[in-house]
Parts: sequence; C-alpha cells; structure tokens
Amino acid sequence: MASSRPEFLPNGTCLKERYTIEGLVRIVEGRFFYLAKADDARLYLLSARWKLERFDAYMTFSSMNLQHPGIITPTDVFIHNDQLFSVIPYSSEGLLIDEVAPLSNERVLHLAQRLAGILAFLHSSGVHLHHLTNANIFVNPDGTVRLFDPEISHIDEDPKKPSERSSELRSLGELLRRFCNVDAEALADFLETVESGTYPTPAAFGRAVEQRFDAVAGIQYQPILAATTDVGLVRDLNEDNWGWSKLSKNAALYVVADGMGGHDGGEIASELAVRTICQVARERESLRKSSNEALENLLDESFQEANNTVKTNAEVKGTDMGTTLVCLLLLDEHKGFVANVGDSRAYLFRSDELSQISEDHSLVGKMVERGKLTKEEARIHPHSNILLRTVGTERNIDIDVFPVDLQSGDRVLLCSDGLWGEIPDEKIGDILLNNPDPRTAVRELVHAAHLGGGKDNVTVMVIKAP
Ligand code: CA
Repeated sequence: MASSRPEFLPNGTCLKERYTIEGLVRIVEGRFFYLAKADDARLYLLSARWKLERFDAYMTFSSMNLQHPGIITPTDVFIHNDQLFSVIPYSSEGLLIDEVAPLSNERVLHLAQRLAGILAFLHSSGVHLHHLTNANIFVNPDGTVRLFDPEISHIDEDPKKPSERSSELRSLGELLRRFCNVDAEALADFLETVESGTYPTPAAFGRAVEQRFDAVAGIQYQPILAATTDVGLVRDLNEDNWGWSKLSKNAALYVVADGMGGHDGGEIASELAVRTICQVARERESLRKSSNEALENLLDESFQEANNTVKTNAEVKGTDMGTTLVCLLLLDEHKGFVANVGDSRAYLFRSDELSQISEDHSLVGKMVERGKLTKEEARIHPHSNILLRTVGTERNIDIDVFPVDLQSGDRVLLCSDGLWGEIPDEKIGDILLNNPDPRTAVRELVHAAHLGGGKDNVTVMVIKAP
C-alpha cells in the first residue's frame, strides 16, 4: 500500500527550515507525534499523518480556519515527504487514547456532550468527519477535551443542505462505550443505540446525552478493574481488541482478542469476536441453569458463535482473518471460568505469585508441554507466533475451559502476546506486586512492553476479586 507507515524522522531533522525535531513522543494509529524546537525558541507539537486519501479534505478544512473552543487550530500545516504535518505550540496536553478504562459515568457523559457539541459545530459549517478516533482527542490538564487533526470525509459547500445520517456518531458511540464501567449497563446500552444510528445528527445525540445526566452521572463503582490497548512502537495498526460486559446481576464477561490478517482483517476479526461473544453470552446467560456444566456450555456456545461470525465474514471478504480470544466469566465475584483459543493469556496473581491459567495453542506451547522447550525459550523462539488454533479459521472450534475460584485480593490478568512476548513473566509479576491499583498496573505493563521492544500491539486487562 502506498500509504503504509513511513520511517519516523530522526532527531535533529529540520522541517521548513523552521522546526527541528527533538523527538518522537508518541505513535498512535495513523499519526506520529513529534516535539520540535522552532526558530522562535518555542516548543511545538507536530502531528504527522501519512494516509494520503484524506489529505485534500483536511487541507480544505484547515484553510477554513474555523474557530471553536473545542477545536485546536494548527498554527501551521504543511506537507513534507508525503507526510502532512499539523503544528501547535506544545502545552502538555494528553491524548484520550492513553486514558485507561473505565472512566466515571460523569466523565463519559461530559465527553459525549462536549464531542457532540464539536461535531454539531462542524456540521453547521458543512464539515463532516470520516470517523473519530481517540487519537484525535486531546485532553487538557483540566480534563476537558479538544479535537485535533481529525479525519475529514467531506465538506458541503452548502451547510444547510440536509445531509445523510452522521457517520461520525457510530465511531463516537463506540469509543465512548469502551470507557464505560462494566457495571454501567444503562450508559453502555445508550451508547450502543448511538452506534446503531438512532440519532440523525450530533445535535440530537447531544440532547439525548443531556437527559442522561440526572439518572447516571452520580453512580460510583468499585475500582476493581482496568483495561487499555496500545498499538506498540512498530506496527501500523492495532488489531487487538478488548471488551467487558455485564451478563446478568451477578455475572460478567471480560475478553481480550488479538486479530490477524492485516488491514481490513485482523482488526475486524478481533472486534467482531469481542462484540459477538459479549452479545451471545448475554443472551445465553438469561436462559442458563445454575450448574458448572451450564456455564461451560454458555462459554462454548458463545465461542462457537463468535467463531462462525468471523469465519462467515472472512468468507464474504475472501480473506483469511482470524483472532485469538481469551475470556474470564466471573460469577458472584469469585467463581471464575477462563476460556481461550490461541495464545492470548489469562494469568492469576495470588499471594504475590503469578501463574498462567490458560494454555497457549501455539507450536512452541506444544513443545513446552512435551518438555522440548522451556517457557522462556518458547517466549523468544522465532516461531513463537505460529498458532495451532484460532477463532475464524475453521467452522467448529475446540475451546479450553479452566475453572478458577477467586479469593479476595486475587487478580486476573488478560493480555495479548504483545505483553508476554516482550517481557518475562517475572517482570509481569513484579509490576502487579508493585501496583495494587489495576489502573496503574495496566499503565505500567504497557510501558514495560514498550521498553521490551514494543514490537506488537499490546492489550492488558486486570480484574481484581473484591
Ligand atoms: Ca499479537
């Protein structure tokens, strides 16, 4: 592909005879963020994109110079070596993509309201976004957000012209829903209706958000879980996914998936698998009888549906997409069932000891079972990525189920190989030991995966037994 990710610019590179790159500070999907010193001795943040297809629309948008408190207007926009740079003076903003889920209900609603307002303003100027990612959303020190360097789909010459249903809202609903607490069912359901196109315009969505404040903004949850995903330092695209879903009053499902199949493959497979397994498990849970066998059946049926959905999608598209899938079904906060296909893992951290619950369905995993390799040799083996079982490859799939009784204070870690492939288990255990708070633990684990090389997407979820 012509617009695959280029090499990033080395420190000291001079752009426009004005900006000297001081360092690459962040890689996110579709963007490099650099810090650069300019000839006025100030520090600037440069966002660089390389996908050519939306350059023109963005240039037109930029020339409109729209002013809104929720939109960051670049002080400079230019193209260098097929990369489009948007420049702003640097003032310690963060990125929404770096926030760890879950956020409080109140924060999710504030974000929804603010972003709906920004999109409504853009529509009133004829500007329509292609989609919204949390990498376009900057977080100010006071927690408010602003839009920067967005993906523009098109600009209507006549903003009054009634437009088709807003396509950005789907991505907005999706990105906000990810930040909902597993117990925030009403809020997650509301955001799911946004994804399915209930609201014709951002303004209509904004009004609906307004009505939710009284009912859900004040609800507090126990700080017992956290999740985050990161593209890593080398890959273009994040093909990992994660999700959690309340299945009933006393059951919840937690899922991590690692997709494969490249562009239009892996990220779709993992997203579909997570979405399907959560949906099916919710439907089945309402019918379930209370026995262990019934729980294992529920997991098995949910995996089969997720598997067949991905397989059907792969056949329709004519690709060979697939995904790993590991999940924890937690009942009454202590009775757990881990199930997996592939080499995304579930670990138990109990009494300062880390142990792997799931078994990897990989070539090297088999060799470890047979005593031909040690776990550490397998981890860094050149063929460590060859999987023996994946979701979406064959019509029927065998899953492994591991019952685990959780004790108070136990933690379960679900993660993709972008974590365990970069750092040894001892290091993972140390981080969990030193970070009892799941939120700081997931941050530190991703950071450690980067320091270990960051060669792959990394997804980390920690669930603590209350
Ligand atoms: Ca991976």
